[in-house]
Amino acid sequence: MKGLFITFEGPDGAGKSTQLGKLAEYLEEQKIPFIRTREPGGTDIGDMIRSILLDPSNGNLTHKTEVLLYAASRAQHVQEVIQPALEAGKVVLCDRFVDASIAYQGYGLDLSLESVKLINEFAINGISPDRTYMIDLPPDEGRQRMKSRHKPKQVDYELDRIEQKNLMYHQKVREGFHKIYEENKQRICLLDGSQSIDDIFQHIVQDFQHFYKTSTSVSNHEIM
Ligand code: ADP
Repeated sequence: MKGLFITFEGPDGAGKSTQLGKLAEYLEEQKIPFIRTREPGGTDIGDMIRSILLDPSNGNLTHKTEVLLYAASRAQHVQEVIQPALEAGKVVLCDRFVDASIAYQGYGLDLSLESVKLINEFAINGISPDRTYMIDLPPDEGRQRMKSRHKPKQVDYELDRIEQKNLMYHQKVREGFHKIYEENKQRICLLDGSQSIDDIFQHIVQDFQHFYKTSTSVSNHEIM
């Protein structure tokens, strides 16, 4: 595999898509070929699965169905989008991946971590992130940001099925992310989401430059 697989993880409202967008702009300036994508979704089939997962009226979705749907969306995403882009030597910027399933379904829903990992291993064809930017933020702050983000555009904005879960669930998810970080310090760069957008991005871009330069798997494209 010639490309670089970069994921962004953390709770809703932490700033993942903001930072992913800034890194995308940087890659564009540097003329580094890349794609940006997200989960759940990232493909037509994945977007259909996403709407089932996030629809607030699907309150009776079982926990096991939830894990399997995320993994199904991911399997399609890996095979249709991520793997081909990596094989073409591109940088793949992806908003959420397997860590999110371990945090939200494993830790958040108290499902067996072993099972969640196993189901996901089956889905991802051995494709795993080279580097992960994990943004940490207390759940109530993330929720506040989500609400203010949607207000101007959509007066009747309703939180999605996952966002609607109570703060205790989101606290378990946050602790789950911390445990994932502790177990994967080599791969994960942990960032404090309460810093300013520009300060967080400074950390990310410096880390990325270093990581990109030292990564032997990517063609030796010069960056500044
Ligand atoms: P996520 O993708 O993690 O759900 P977003 O990037 O969409 O989060 O950010 C959610 C909201 O919070 C947006 O309105 C965004 O402008 C704002 N935001 C993002 N990062 C920060 C930050 N570091 N400080 C303050 N507000 C932020």
